[in-house]
Amino acid sequence: MQMQFTLAPTPDDASLEKGRLMFAAPVEFLKGVVAMSGLPAADRIEVCFAGRSNVGKSSLINALTNRKNLARASNTPGRTQEINYFTTEGGPYLVDLPGYGYAQAPVAIVAKWQQLLKSYLAGRVTLRRAFVLIDTRHGIKAVDEEILTLLDRSAVTFQVVMTKSDKVNRAEREQAIAQVKAALGKHPAAYPEIVVTSSEKGEGIETLRAIIASLN
Ligand code: GDP
Repeated sequence: MQMQFTLAPTPDDASLEKGRLMFAAPVEFLKGVVAMSGLPAADRIEVCFAGRSNVGKSSLINALTNRKNLARASNTPGRTQEINYFTTEGGPYLVDLPGYGYAQAPVAIVAKWQQLLKSYLAGRVTLRRAFVLIDTRHGIKAVDEEILTLLDRSAVTFQVVMTKSDKVNRAEREQAIAQVKAALGKHPAAYPEIVVTSSEKGEGIETLRAIIASLN
């Protein structure tokens, strides 16, 4: 069966309100995790955010949570690769995975991070959805394919969130969406709806809040 990929529709008013309320309450940094043994108790569901370094992940998390500097916009290659946990009031953990695809990252660091990522994705039973961020200017690249394949193998449903939509014109936007839809056809774990966002202009942020708040 061929999966039909579409843009996520605007959520209904009740869902939008649920999302607004969840993110109007404080979202707090809980801890940075460097090994599976450091994961917090699996006492609630969680969603994670993954993306190539510089894709706009910190900006998106800050936009979602109405915070200027919740997710540190630190992109230093080789810095300790942590899985950062944030709490929402009455909602899921938000889990910020380290950016991947550093051109200069040392091999040993990449290997260690990939091992942790594999263990996390395969072993975290409370992980409900992975949001994979894709730069609207670039579409899905080989380095993204690696994590999408990992998500397929781990049977973790992932939803593509396109970032920085304000940086492209209408034609480039349509082209990028078409490229993403085509690439997702090869991935059984792909969620059928794509969210287009701009942390700068606010596009898609309320929709993404509603999607997160509706997971259970
Ligand atoms: P990260 O490495 O994935 O956390 O990426 P950042 O959030 O640090 O963003 C990388 C760069 O892209 C920064 O210069 C941001 O200001 C910029 N950026 C992020 N999101 C947007 C967006 O929605 N629109 C525009 N125009 N720039 C953005």
